[in-house]
Amino acid sequence: MSLAEALDMRPGEGADLVLGGATVLDPAAGFESVHDVVVRGGRIAELAAPGSAAADGAERVEAEGLHAFPAFFDPHVHLRVPGQEHKEDIETGSRAAAAGGYCGVIAMANTEPPVSTSADVEALREAAREGASVAVGFLATVTRQMAGEELTEMAELREAGALGFSDDGLPLVSARVLRRALQYQRLCGGTIALHEEDPELSGDGVMHEGPVSAALGLAGIPSVSESTTIARDAALAGYEDGRIHVQHLSAAESVAAVRAAKGAGVRISCEASPHHEAVRSLDPRRFKMNPPLRAEADREALIEGLRDGTIDCIATDHAPHATEEKEVPFEQAAMGVTGLETAFAALHTDLVLPGVLDLCLVVEKLGGGAEPFGLERPSLAPGSEANIALCDLSAEWTVGEEGYESRSQNSWCAGRTLTGRVLMTVAAGRVAYRLRSFSLGVAQ
Ligand SMILES: [Zn+2]
Ligand SMILES: [Zn+2]
Repeated sequence: MSLAEALDMRPGEGADLVLGGATVLDPAAGFESVHDVVVRGGRIAELAAPGSAAADGAERVEAEGLHAFPAFFDPHVHLRVPGQEHKEDIETGSRAAAAGGYCGVIAMANTEPPVSTSADVEALREAAREGASVAVGFLATVTRQMAGEELTEMAELREAGALGFSDDGLPLVSARVLRRALQYQRLCGGTIALHEEDPELSGDGVMHEGPVSAALGLAGIPSVSESTTIARDAALAGYEDGRIHVQHLSAAESVAAVRAAKGAGVRISCEASPHHEAVRSLDPRRFKMNPPLRAEADREALIEGLRDGTIDCIATDHAPHATEEKEVPFEQAAMGVTGLETAFAALHTDLVLPGVLDLCLVVEKLGGGAEPFGLERPSLAPGSEANIALCDLSAEWTVGEEGYESRSQNSWCAGRTLTGRVLMTVAAGRVAYRLRSFSLGVAQ
C-alpha cells in the first residue's frame, strides 16, 4: 500500500513532472545515477537517460547538479493538535515537514487532551485530509489519558486508523501495563512506540548526568534511566512476542541494549535524532531536551549504531514550543526542539561533509521510519508513488533567516549556516513544497 492510501490522503491530482538530469540516489533500491525522473499522475513513470525525456505537457525542472532522493519519513513528531495550536498545527507542522524533504510523518498522542479515543483519531485524520501538505499518521495513547494505568480501547483505536500506540512524553512505568498492552497488540496489531525512562532514576534531572551537571550543580538524568528500561521492555516484548519501537535513543548503553535484543530475536526497532547524533555537547545548557544531549562517547555510539544497523531510522522528535516557554531559566525551560526543516541539512553538514557518515546511509535512515509502523518505505523505483526530495548539496543557508514554516522557532540549529538544502518536495504524488527562490524550468 502506498503512503497516500495507507494514510488516507484525499486523492488529489497527481503531479506531472520531469526532473531533468538529476542525480538519483535511492539507497534501498541500490542505485545512484543521473536520470531524467519522469513523474506522471503522481507516480514515478520512468528513470530515463538524461536529456531524453520529452516534457509532453509535464512541468520540466532543470535538475542538473541536484540530487533526487526518496523523500524522508519521520516516525516521531509533535504537531500539538489538539490543544496547543499556538505552538503548531497539522497545517504548519506538515508544511515544516515538506520544507525538510519529508513525504510523511507520524504525530505523537501527548496532546491536550491526549489522543485516547477513536473519535479523537477520526477527527485528526479528517483534519489531516483537509489541511496536511504531506501524509500524516497518528498514534493513540497506550493508556487512558496517559495515566499509565488502564489501557485504551486498542482494537477500536486501530479500527479508527491509529497506526500504533505511544504514551511518548511519559514512560510506561508499569511493566504489567506494558505486558498487557503487548497481549492486546497480538489481537489488533499496531507497533508500540516507547519513550524509555525510569522516572525514579531521572528524578528532577534537567540534563545528562556527568561531569558537566556536577560542575554546574544541576540535577542529572543518568544514561541508565533509559537503558535499563529498554532492557526491561525488550525482555517483555520477547516474552510476549510483541512488536516495539524504541524512541529517541541517546546513550551508548541504550544502543547496546537494543543491539542485544535484536541479537536475541526480539521484534524491536529504534530511532535516534539528529541533535543527539550531531551536537558535540560542549554546552549542553544551550539545548534542553529529554532525553538530554549526553557525552561524546554516547554520540559516537549512536553513529556506530546507525552504521551497523542497530538504529533503524532517524527521527526528529520535532517538538515546537512557544518562545516564552524557552526564554526562562534553564531549570524551568520547556523540553524539546524543532527539527523537521533542518534534519537533512544538519546531518549533511555535520556528518556527511566531514566524512563521518555516507550520504547514502543518511538518506536511507531518513526514510527508515515508515517500515517500523507497517508502511511502505518511500522509493524512486519506477511504478512507485512519487515521494521525492530534490536537494542542492552545495547550497548554503542560515537557519531561521527567512523564518520557519513551523509556527514555533525553537530550532536546535537556529542561526547556524548549513550546507545542503531541500529545493522541492513531492509527497504522495503531489508537489508539497518549493523553495521560493528556486527557479524552475518552463512548462512545455
Ligand atoms: Zn519522548
Ligand atoms: Zn517526542
